[in-house]
Formats: sequence, C-alpha cells, structure tokens
Amino acid sequence: MEPGAVSNKSNGNGIGKHHREYEFDIIAWFDNVSENAGFVQRETLRRILHQNYDVEYLKKWFGDIKIQEMDACALESLYTSLVPLASHADLDPYIQRIADGDTAPLLTKQPIATLSLSSGTTEGRQKYVPFTCHSSQTTLEIFRLAAAYRSRVYPIREGGRILELIYSSKQFKTKGGLTAGTATTHYYASEEFKIKQEKTKSFTCSPEEVISGGDYKQSTYCHLLLGLFFSDEVEFIASTFAYSVVQAFTAFEDFWKDICDDIREGKLNSRITLSKMRKAVLEIISPKPYLASQIERNCNKLQSLDWFGLIPKLWPNAKYVYSIMTGSMQLYLKKLRHYAADLPLVSADYGSTESWIGVNVDPFLDPENVTFAVIPTFSYFEFIPIYRRKDCCPTTDDFIEDEPVPLSQVKVGQEYEIVLTTFTGLYRYRLGDVVEVAGFHKGTPKLNFICRRKLILSINIDKNTEKDLQLVVEKGSQLLSKTGAELVDFTSHANVVSQPGHYIIYWEIKGEVEERVLQECCCHMDASFVDHGYVVSRRTNSIGPLELCIVKRGTFKKILDHFIGNGAALSQFKTPRCTRNQALLRILNDWAIKRFHSTAYSRK
Ligand code: AMP
Repeated sequence: MEPGAVSNKSNGNGIGKHHREYEFDIIAWFDNVSENAGFVQRETLRRILHQNYDVEYLKKWFGDIKIQEMDACALESLYTSLVPLASHADLDPYIQRIADGDTAPLLTKQPIATLSLSSGTTEGRQKYVPFTCHSSQTTLEIFRLAAAYRSRVYPIREGGRILELIYSSKQFKTKGGLTAGTATTHYYASEEFKIKQEKTKSFTCSPEEVISGGDYKQSTYCHLLLGLFFSDEVEFIASTFAYSVVQAFTAFEDFWKDICDDIREGKLNSRITLSKMRKAVLEIISPKPYLASQIERNCNKLQSLDWFGLIPKLWPNAKYVYSIMTGSMQLYLKKLRHYAADLPLVSADYGSTESWIGVNVDPFLDPENVTFAVIPTFSYFEFIPIYRRKDCCPTTDDFIEDEPVPLSQVKVGQEYEIVLTTFTGLYRYRLGDVVEVAGFHKGTPKLNFICRRKLILSINIDKNTEKDLQLVVEKGSQLLSKTGAELVDFTSHANVVSQPGHYIIYWEIKGEVEERVLQECCCHMDASFVDHGYVVSRRTNSIGPLELCIVKRGTFKKILDHFIGNGAALSQFKTPRCTRNQALLRILNDWAIKRFHSTAYSRK
C-alpha cells in the first residue's frame, strides 16, 4: 500500500521525463488509496493491530481474544467497541515508562528509541509522543506527494534550491537513554530528509550545521545569507509554519547590510559565534561583489517601499512561498503577502507530532480556502461529530458530541474532532483539533482546519474558541489597517482575579495609532464576540468590559525567546492565542504601554 518505487533519473533542465512519471506514480497511488479509502482504513487498522496486538496497553482491553484470526471488518468493530477513546493523559504513564527505560512492549511491539516533543505552545506543556521510522517515512511520503501536486501547478527547475527557513531544537536523552526532541528535529536529522531532496530534486540552501545550530538568530542569519548567495537558483521559499518566514524577513530588515558585506567579501559576520556553523557556511561562500551590490541596490529601494515585494525582488526565480498558513498562522498572512507581493502563497499540509493527516491537493487555492485530503494509509482516523452548545450552562466545553464515526461515514459540512490510531502506539487518541469536512478527494475527506478544540476564553457561561477570538481580532484590526499600522501579533487572557472577570486582549502594533482609534478597536472587539453566553454576561455585567492592552514592540519576540529557552523549536512555534502562563503574563504586563477598556455595552 506504500507509494511504489520509481526511477529518479532526470534528463537535464526542466522537469525530466522520469521525474514526471514519478510524480504521476505518486499521485496515481494517492488517487487509488483515496478511491478505496474505507477499505484502506480498515486494512491500516488491521496492520497496526496485527503488529501490536500483544502489547500491554491493548491486552488490557482485548484480553485473550485472538484478533489475528479476525477479518478487517470484524476487527474494526471489535476495536472500537472494546478500546476506549483516550487522551494524552491516559497514555502518558506508558510513555513515561518508555522514557524511563522500560523495554517491555507497552504500546508497540517494536522498541521505541526516540520520543518527540509536541510544540507545547498551544497546550502550554510539551508532551512526549513516540517516534519511530514510520514517522520519518510518512513525513517523506507526504512531502513527496505534496511536491508532486505543487509541481503540476507551479513547475520548478530540477536541481534548483529551496530557501528553507527550518530549525532543529536540541536533542537530548531521557532518563532511560532515549533520544528526545521535536518531531521536525528528528526528521531533519534523518536519512529521509536527504532522500526527500533527491526525490523532489530540490535542495536546501543551508547545510545541516545551520539547521541544527541551536541558536535560531544565528541560523536565520545564515539561512538568509546562503539563500541570497544562491539567489538565482532558489525556486521557492519554505518553512514549517508561516511564523518563521515572517520572523526571518522582519529580522532581515535589520541586518541586510551585514549580509551584503559578507557576500561582497566572502566572509561571515562576527554575530555568528557557533564554530561548526561558521565553518560550514565559510566553506560554501566566496566573494561575489557584483551580487552584493545588486542586493544592496534592491534593498535600498525596498526599504523605501517598507519592504513590499521583498521576496520576488531578491529571489527573482522563486515560484511561490510554501508553509502552513492556516489555523493560528492566518494572522501572518497579511505580512506574508506584503513580502511576497504577487508571488503565490501555497499553504502546506496538515499534521501533528502524533501523525500526518492530510495533503493540500489544490496548491493553487488561496490559503483562506485550503483543505487537506486525508491520507488513509498513515493512521486509522475516527471522527467525533461535534455540535456547538446553544445553552448557557457553565461548562468547560462548548461542544456536544456524538459517537465517533470512521472516515468512510463523515458528512460534508459537519464539524468533527479527530481521533488517531497510529503505527507509533497511540490508540483512539483524541488529537484535540476541530475540522470540518469540506468535500471529498475521490473517496477520502477533504478537511478544513477550524481550531484547537479546547476553549480558550471562558469566565462563566461564555465559551469562545481560538477561532472565535481570531475572528474578533480580525474585525478589530480592520480599523487599524485604515491608519496604515499593522498588528504584529496577539494573545489573550481571561482575567478572573478582578471582579467581575473580563477578557484582556494583548496587541503588539507596528506604526503609530491614535488613542481614539485604539479605543474604537477595543469596543469593536468587545461587541464582536457573538457567543450568546458572552453577550448575556456582558449585558448583565457579570463579565466586565473587554480590555485592550498594547504592548511594546518586541514583546512577542521576547515571548518566542522564552519558549525557545524552555526547549521549544522555532520550526514548530505557534504563539499561544490565550494564556494563563504566569511567566508569559509577567512579560506581557511588564511590557504593557497602554490599556483601553471597552464601553461597548455601556452605550446600549
Ligand atoms: P505540534 O504541537 O507541533 O505537533 O502541532 C500540531 C498542531 O498544529 C496540530 O494539532 C494543529 O493544531 C496545528 N497544525 C498543524 N498543521 C496545521 C495546518 N496545516 N493548519 C492549521 N493548523 C495546523
């Protein structure tokens, strides 16, 4: 059921014949498994369970039942009736034993030698998740598949380069001697990462020493230096999450002159102190005075345009920018469009540390309209139908849920929480993401990413998700754009210390904005929460006026540094859209410069 082995010989410039055949092969493979998605899903579950039926966790539910003798259909219904839905907390004791060195088959038959750390920036706490060679293989498969779809729409030159703004975090050993780090870190260190470059015929500008240097500021500088050194060869710009692209080009606005000096003389600025990184970069670069002058001229012009169109100007052969731009990354789209001008933005695929989920089969779509076709061989997927609560009872959840359904039974327009059963030892694991079925690719659903399921803003009977907050902030910040200023980043907090409790939304802004406008933004946001519980509570003043807190420039960079300092990786970083984390709140409050309180409901 895996994509077939294919020839990778090229016939020179342009897309080679064999390369096209290979693209055709992988797309034909995906069409085939999508056509038979229901069948393929049952087979996938059968394979997972046959590999692992006698591990401690499954034995607890299956007892002595001989599942090896059952057909895939019977096994599917037995599995979903005996094995309960689980959260990370249910599996954590097993994962912890693995981390501590217990080598008994607890979750998988194959010993687990590596653990991934989920980014933890959404949930607040990093979680261990088992990582096996299956994880790297599926990463390679989805990257190859996505590349094949992209090259149908935006063909690229074979043997070209990618300016890839990617970063590894530090790998470390657990008490039991297992290697731990983020999933992207393991992937960049794997053989599959090299194979991907060979198979997709596109090569990262930066050597391994830059990707895994461990200091994201130094890595960013070198990524951009090398990206410019090879600028004529760069076919596209990429990162895992859009945040890293914006972060890199914002930094570039400050240090571009140093990069030009380095390219002119073939030297490396003293800000790069990591010796391995220095050595690796110096081995690649050589003086290119003509290129340096050209970049300098372009940058001087770009600076006067507030860096509008930076990417196509400096990378004239780039065909697109490729990165995850959906979900919490939507905020950065505006800035990305500013840097990219009319260069297409291609939204990258949907996955998590736990499993890859879906591929973008329509790379020509705007990021706002992108969906992800579920890959039915990667994991066994179930979908819990969820419905918004309309009542006003105090609750920690704003959804009512139905019984989980298999992939073959999902309905267009319905929202679901995703449940995963993986080859890496997660059984009926609630991922916590809310998706909507937007349609089908052959027989496999195309998902619209909605948000993380967990409520983020709630004081009493009010219930707001990350998506609700995002919509409110979008509305509020529309008033800002009229003034030419821009919202750099935001987060929020439900303050219950003062009575009545109220929401605080923290904004970092670039540009000057009159207080009158900010006051209006504040009221506009307060009035834009449509959740019935919130509206009722505001009217009765059981929730106080929304507070808009403006923080100094650089506050969110400080927050990024705080997370990186605690072991997060830039490649997987997502600004938390709501926080209760005291360290974060301290940064936000220390760096607050202005506070506004809504009068939205006092006018009514
Ligand atoms: P991590 O903690 O790094 O494993 O992050 C995984 C989470 O990132 C997923 O569960 C989603 O909430 C989010 N995510 C991943 N891919 C996408 C995507 N294409 N669009 C929106 N959100 C995504």
